[in-house]
Amino acid sequence: MAVAVNSQLNPLENAERQFVEAAARLKLDPGTMDLLKKPRRATIQWLPVMMDDGNVRMFEGFRVQHNIARGPAKGGIRYHPDVSLEEVSALASWMTWKCAVADIPFGGGKGGIKVDPRTLSRAELERLTRRYAADLSDLFGPESDVPAPDVNTGEREMAWIADTYSMHERRTELAVVTGKPLEVGGSQGRREATGRGVMICIEQMCKHLGMPLAGARVAVQGFGNVGGVTADLLARECGAKIVAASDASGAVTNPAGLDVQALLKHVAEKRGVAGFPGAKPLTTSIIEHDCDILVPAALENQITSDNAARVRARIVAEGANGPTTPDADKILESKGVHVIPDILCNAGGVTVSYFEWVQNRMGFYWPEAEVNARLREKMVKAFGDVIAMKERTDPSSKEGPVSLRIAAYMVAIQRVLRVHELRGMYA
Ligand code: NAD
Repeated sequence: MAVAVNSQLNPLENAERQFVEAAARLKLDPGTMDLLKKPRRATIQWLPVMMDDGNVRMFEGFRVQHNIARGPAKGGIRYHPDVSLEEVSALASWMTWKCAVADIPFGGGKGGIKVDPRTLSRAELERLTRRYAADLSDLFGPESDVPAPDVNTGEREMAWIADTYSMHERRTELAVVTGKPLEVGGSQGRREATGRGVMICIEQMCKHLGMPLAGARVAVQGFGNVGGVTADLLARECGAKIVAASDASGAVTNPAGLDVQALLKHVAEKRGVAGFPGAKPLTTSIIEHDCDILVPAALENQITSDNAARVRARIVAEGANGPTTPDADKILESKGVHVIPDILCNAGGVTVSYFEWVQNRMGFYWPEAEVNARLREKMVKAFGDVIAMKERTDPSSKEGPVSLRIAAYMVAIQRVLRVHELRGMYA
């Protein structure tokens, strides 16, 4: 298990700190806290893969099911050289709370393989993905554990997983995984769903604050699925101005607003924002960029106690999972920055994953407008539930007012706990 050098950057510790703060507000007893905190199951797989040169290489894979009281474990699979059991455990718990905030009938899970996929050929990646899926075919299933894409995985990998599982079952079973290509049982609107959910949350927050979104200046960190779509929708559908964007290749800025469509085309061709002709390179940190709305949409731990004081945005909309550490949260709160927490802000992806799973099981597919309308309904309701929880908690209590993050956790914990209470304890 990887040990984070700086405990502030250990996502599992951060996830636990967030949970404990909310659980304490709800006055949960220590046993109940433990029940909701511990993962139900955490697995490590060593996966042998035949490389193209004929040599065998071992890869380390993980799958964690955090809580399955409300339904099957749900959560993506990440391919990254830094993936660890701790990171996957943190991400799995965030999925439990996210599914509960969005009020969809899933628990939380997450998986990952310690690999830099850029160093593998397509055939090697396919063999690795299939080996991982085969190894986990006892856990995976439409009623038990339903994976989805995450960083560095997408439709292609999901199709391979659906196929591998179907081969083992000796029948086609598409509802085992979501985020599939449309032709293989994917849902209309799934690719854009997370970014669309982020956009809806930003719209709701602006409405709540009485702040105009048209013309608002937005900086987006991470220009992949979540960041790219969020930027595109904010520009096209809301009239916001995307003034800076970054990814692993670098960062670019244009105070007059980036041409997002042209930037997306550039990224598709050149595999990064760097060198985009319609902008200047940004040499300072995008987190500290002068903007109204900051969308961290890359990886964890981007806003820490080292840089939080220099965040200039009024709204931070967490497209990524875990981009803000608990210490940074306190600093942002004291500055009056409105953080839309990950478990609410990026819940659009899992919500449309749920719709995909429903459509697979019905064998009846909805048009995009219906998917988007149902997504909006879910996101607006979730946003309202979290705001209502924040407003219900007593700001004059000795602990002070709760942040939106803690309010979101409180909504989620109450929902998961209620199901545990109703189902009772099997002993
Ligand atoms: P992706 O692989 O499509 O994109 C990730 C982006 O982050 C890429 O542009 C990459 O270049 C960039 N990046 C990596 N390191 C960076 C760095 N140091 N600085 C700036 N940019 C960097 O992944 P994604 O699906 O867009 O996921 C992004 C985040 O959103 C992750 O935290 C993921 O867990 C979360 N998320 C994704 C979904 C989904 O549906 N895809 C849903 C919910 C949450």
